[in-house]
Amino acid sequence: MEQFIVSARKYRPLTFANVVGQSSIAQTLKNAIERKQLAHAYLFCGPRGVGKTTCARIFAKTINCFNPDANGDACGECESCKAFAENRSYNIHELDAASNNSVEDIRNLIDQVRVPPQIGKYSVYIIDEVHMLSAAAFNAFLKTLEEPPAHAIFILATTEKHKIIPTILSRCQIYDFNRISVESAVAYIEKIAKNENIDYEPEALHVIAQKADGSMRDALSIFDQVVSFCGTNVTYAKVIENLNVLDYEYYFRLTNAFVEGDYCTALVIFDEILSKGFEAQYFIRGLNSHFRDLLVCKDTRTASLLEVGAAIAESYKKQAEICSVAFLFTALDITNTCDAGYKTSSNQRLHIELALCKLSNAVNLRKEEQTVKTVDNIEKNKNEVIAQQQTKQESRDKIEKISGNDVKIEEIKEKTTVAARPETVSIKGFSNLTESINIETKEVKQEESNTLQMTENFTEEQLFTAWKNCAAVFAQKQPRVASAMIAAKPVCETDNVVVFNVQQIIQKQWLEDKGIARNICLYLQKELKNTTLKLDVRVDQSGDRIDAPKLYTDSDKEKHMHEKNPELANFQSVFELYDGK
Ligand SMILES: [Zn+2]
Repeated sequence: MEQFIVSARKYRPLTFANVVGQSSIAQTLKNAIERKQLAHAYLFCGPRGVGKTTCARIFAKTINCFNPDANGDACGECESCKAFAENRSYNIHELDAASNNSVEDIRNLIDQVRVPPQIGKYSVYIIDEVHMLSAAAFNAFLKTLEEPPAHAIFILATTEKHKIIPTILSRCQIYDFNRISVESAVAYIEKIAKNENIDYEPEALHVIAQKADGSMRDALSIFDQVVSFCGTNVTYAKVIENLNVLDYEYYFRLTNAFVEGDYCTALVIFDEILSKGFEAQYFIRGLNSHFRDLLVCKDTRTASLLEVGAAIAESYKKQAEICSVAFLFTALDITNTCDAGYKTSSNQRLHIELALCKLSNAVNLRKEEQTVKTVDNIEKNKNEVIAQQQTKQESRDKIEKISGNDVKIEEIKEKTTVAARPETVSIKGFSNLTESINIETKEVKQEESNTLQMTENFTEEQLFTAWKNCAAVFAQKQPRVASAMIAAKPVCETDNVVVFNVQQIIQKQWLEDKGIARNICLYLQKELKNTTLKLDVRVDQSGDRIDAPKLYTDSDKEKHMHEKNPELANFQSVFELYDGK
């Protein structure tokens, strides 16, 4: 039986050119070798599985090669290269600082460093996880690191640069390794899959790369795992089953439900997800990423931040079209808050379900906001109409002013006032005037019919309904207005005057000063289709609270009590209760 070698080892890059996702670092190291400007200590920082050790090994192999090729790469054929290929080279020493972190271990290393290599020029010492060295070990190492023998080169590797003491940092050339992008990982796995004659769906490889989260080694391990599960045909469905990844499809269906305000479907889908054994927090995080992906699809400038396969990217773009940016912001906020509070929630399932309900309502909230805006717009239009009417009046005045000239004013007047058809009334015979008077009557007429001429009758019941709806609109933004409206029962008097009773004068002032009363009036006008409707805010006198004198001081209160109950004087004299004596 053929021996199985894991892909991460089998396909470990052998030259700088083949290193995935670290092209600039590879190029810099190669240049340094070509120019023979080798430092005696390097520090490679970066997440796990991104090629730190691989680069260190290629580096060691290349500087020891007897006859490097024209590109500056190791030949792969000389004695040194062969020794490297067969893992028997004495020019490279790897030390795992995680398990060899004592001073004793470092002293052994220092003794070893003194011995020059038998073949090749350099001995390369790779110290992995160097941040795990004890403080004493670090100090023991400092001297050697600063002035090593000419044949020794140290390559320190770490995932946690911040744990390295500054005295070490200042003695090293520092290289920061990137996370491997999903795209690079996918491209590399594709190459391996082709080499191994494995059929694959591009989406499947994307899931693998995403699961690996920036680590090439993890990506290859996952790939091996998936291949042993799927055989020679790696499909999206099998990969998400094997890796226990939630299908994108769920998120798409959920988002559709949110956009339609359909919380029932959302809750049912969530139940389905739980019944498949997925953890609720994993789900809410996935949903959060889904909204993030939709958001980046909204703009061509951010579209490249979407790290999925082409087919799914198309679905994302489609769904992004039905989601507004405002909805996505709200949705991101809701899912983020939900995730943050998940651990401390006493009923975690309900916690998530509540977030799903909020998400289903997010679209409705926006609709209500738009209604408030519409009310504002109507008001604006009305003001414009009034302004235009004023202009019209001014024009008429002008015409009258110049009536001394022999022009048939009546005719012009008629034209300006009737003007039923869209037309421009220009005044003939006044070309000598510097200013010609044009009155655009079209818009004015139209808006008049839209906003100013609604006189439908309404019943008391219709008024109550409109009143309640209006209160609901305010409930979100100005709950105080909503509660005042709910507390008051609107009364319709003659001439369509609706009375809004409030408890205190200050409420009345506030409603009127802030323009809220006006907005309520406009809302009612629109909903009841009657523009003659007026709103009158009145202070409710029935409670007798307004005019009653306020009792501030103690003597005021005492006086008031005496008036109410004359017996109090008796009581006071019996118990000798006077002015605090
Ligand atoms: Zn060689």
